[in-house]
Amino acid sequence: MSEDCIFCSIVAGDIPGRVVSETETTLAFLDVNPLAPGHTLVVPKDHHARLGDLPDDVAADLFAEVHALAPRVEDAVDADATTVGINDGEAAGQEVPHVHAHIVPRFDGDGGGPIHAVAGDRPDLSDEEMDDIESAITSA
Ligand code: 5GP
Ligand code: ZN
Repeated sequence: MSEDCIFCSIVAGDIPGRVVSETETTLAFLDVNPLAPGHTLVVPKDHHARLGDLPDDVAADLFAEVHALAPRVEDAVDADATTVGINDGEAAGQEVPHVHAHIVPRFDGDGGGPIHAVAGDRPDLSDEEMDDIESAITSA
């Protein structure tokens, strides 16, 4: 647990959260400032700041819970679709430095966009640059 982490405090029960699901390693609760009815956050119970910090088994548990919950949340609020996303790092918009997956119910005509809308200007990459990126990721 990290002392000054709001999500650790919710996991510990020190501050209230509208908990919708709990497993041995994860907790899911409603976002206090929802983007849509049913907006749910799924967190590992242990404090980890970034996605890459998660141990493999916890990462698997987290995705398993997102997989189980997304259709349940969608049904519960009678939504038409769901956007699932993780802001991983400050430059990506992460404000709470404890890994969390957002489950955001989506509705026909809700005025939102696809996940493609979250990034900035699209780069114009040459084939060579794409090859270099492919190699860099493969060998990382
Ligand atoms: P981020 O920008 O880090 O991906 O998203 C953080 C999310 O946490 C935001 O959607 C915000 O509304 C939510 N949030 C921040 N503080 C609290 C809180 O105390 N309780 C709950 N349930 N959600 C919170
Ligand atoms: Zn934490």
